[in-house]
Formats: sequence, C-alpha cells, structure tokens
Amino acid sequence: MATQPRDYYDVLGVSKSASGEELKKAYRNLAKKYHPDINKAANAADKFKEIQEAYDSLSDEGKRKQYDRYGHAGMNGGGAGGFPEGFGGGGGGASPFGDIFDIFFNQQQGSSRGGSSSVIRGDDLREDMELTLEEAAVGVEKTIRFPRMETCDTCQGSGAKPGTTAENCTQCQGAGQVRFSQNTLLGTFTSTQTCPKCRGAGKTVASPCGSCSGSGRMRKTRERSVKIPAGADTAMRLRLIGEGDAGERGGPSGDLYIVLYVRDHDVFERRGNDLYCEVQVSFAKAALGDTIKIPIINGTDDLKIPEGTQGGQVFTLRGKGIPDVNGRGKGDQHVVVKVQVPTKLTSEQRTLLKQFAATMGEQVHEGEGKGILGKLFGH
Ligand SMILES: [Zn+2]
Ligand SMILES: [Zn+2]
Repeated sequence: MATQPRDYYDVLGVSKSASGEELKKAYRNLAKKYHPDINKAANAADKFKEIQEAYDSLSDEGKRKQYDRYGHAGMNGGGAGGFPEGFGGGGGGASPFGDIFDIFFNQQQGSSRGGSSSVIRGDDLREDMELTLEEAAVGVEKTIRFPRMETCDTCQGSGAKPGTTAENCTQCQGAGQVRFSQNTLLGTFTSTQTCPKCRGAGKTVASPCGSCSGSGRMRKTRERSVKIPAGADTAMRLRLIGEGDAGERGGPSGDLYIVLYVRDHDVFERRGNDLYCEVQVSFAKAALGDTIKIPIINGTDDLKIPEGTQGGQVFTLRGKGIPDVNGRGKGDQHVVVKVQVPTKLTSEQRTLLKQFAATMGEQVHEGEGKGILGKLFGH
C-alpha cells in the first residue's frame, strides 16, 4: 500500500457542495491539462488517473454519497469495508467529452512541446463557424477573428521589465519544485510539489513588465483566413496547430479547433453527402412526360421525366450531391416529384377533364366528395 489517496474534492479542486456542472468543468480542465498525450511530465499519467478516478466517483450520485460518508474506504469494492456494490474506480466512467478527445489525441503526434517541466503549454481554443450549404459544397475561405493570449511584445514573454531580468527563485533555487515531508500514521512521506512562490517557473521577476503585469502574455485579437474543404459538414472540427493561446514561460502554444455548423437550406435537405429536393410537376407534364428545370446546388439543371411519372417518384442524379470531404467521390442528388392537381378550373378545362375521364371509362360526380365528407364528419 502506497500513500493515502488524496481527497477527491481536493483532487478536482472543488468544494464539497460542488454541483454536477462544477465537477464536470473542473474535471474537464484538469484532464485536458494532465492527459498523458498532452502532458509529457513523468507524473502526468498518475495525475490523470487520480483525476479520472475522482471524477468517476463524484459524478455518480450513489458513489458520491458513499464517499461523503465513508471516504476512500467506501470506494474499494471487496475491500475491508465490504460494501455490497463493487465500487472499483476504473472503467465505465462517463467522460463528458469523449469525441472531442478522440480527434484531439489521434492528431496529436508531431505537435511540438517544451522539454522542461516548468513550461506550460498554452490552452487550446475553440471557435464555432457557420456555413451555408453552398459553401460546404464547394469549399470556402473565410476570415476569422478570435481573442487569444499571445506572447508579450514588450518583454518577449519573460515577464520582466525591459532592462531587467528574471532571477532564480529563492525558495526553490530555480528548480520550480519544492520537496516537503508529511507525517502520517504509516510513516513519513516525502514528495515534491510545484513551488508556491514562483508557481513552477523557477524564476521570479523583481520589476514586472508594465505591459503584461509580469505574466509574459497579453490578450490580443488574432485574425487569419481559414480554408474550409468542400464536403464540410456540421460537427466537423478543423485543427489549426499552434493557433491557440501562447504557452507560459516559453511553453508551446495550444491549438485552435474550429467547429463547423452547416445551416439548413431552403431547398435541399442533406443526408450524408446526398442531397434531396422536391419539385412540383403539373398533372399534365407528369402524365405526358417532359424535360423540367430542377435546382442543383449552385444552379439549375434539366431533368427528363418520362410519361406517366407518379407523385412521390424519385429521380437520382449521380454525382450531383456534395463531394466527400476526403476526396472520395461525390454524393447524389435525389429529386422527389410532387404532382400538382389544379385547384381552380375554368369551365372549359372542367369540360375537357370530364371528357378525359369519360375516355378512361370513369364517371365523375362533382360535389359528391363534399357529401361523403359531410357524412363522415357528421356535418
Ligand atoms: Zn510583458
Ligand atoms: Zn520557486
């Protein structure tokens, strides 16, 4: 048995009365910071596990109650406590950001990061972008403006007033970490923690830079253009490496994620890379067949409909849909025919239609429809 596990609330840095939302938020921030794929410090993996375990336990109402009553003893299923339900840390914890991290980590390789443990990578940022269906179909270049932390121009990130330099921290002698001992029932444990005086920087600034108050960074508005590929769809994310917040103490910048949202279209419905639209065809054209104008994305096209076209019939135009975002071909466009029945007839048209009906061997009793409806609905 190693050291006593830390209090779960302390691990997440929240109060005992924290709401579910607060827990989630704290967890998200910490997990982002300590995920071993992001944080290469030697203890990051352990730290991440600890955070995960704390969140898994506190985010589950039953487990949280047990923990509040019995502390860690209540968390070890099959242990001395002997609780009927197995509380055993581990899997199954509902991570509140599953998919975000999937993409994030898959693409993480190759990103630069500082070698020293005292530098801190800048935060990743997220911007949402709305697109029209036309823009998504052909691709577009857009200019985005977003606030982010950038390295201070005045001090080049050192935090020291120009002409002065940062000095080694007197508490940690520049190491950024201090060792401390803790006496417990099981003995004395020595561990290290981030130096409270310099907060891990290893250096302190006697005369802070006036522009950034010694932080080495300042908030600025960044403007740049972004190419959106043809075939973009709602919920896709573009990652721009190094466009997030600048790192602290010379650490690498975070990344910017652009989350796309494609607006609904008046004419087309998109399903995957296929487009669907409805066209109105007159009764006569549907019966006789014709070439009709139909909308396609960014224009119109001709569609030949054969004689005897039925309402609800679907015509497919191969390759007139949205291009695949990875360049694997194009979707189709499906045209659904709606046959229009004329609503107002002149007496001449009426006569012609009756003659038409007669040639079909039909007898049309005008006005009887009303009678039947009247009977049905009791009017
Ligand atoms: Zn500065
Ligand atoms: Zn220090």
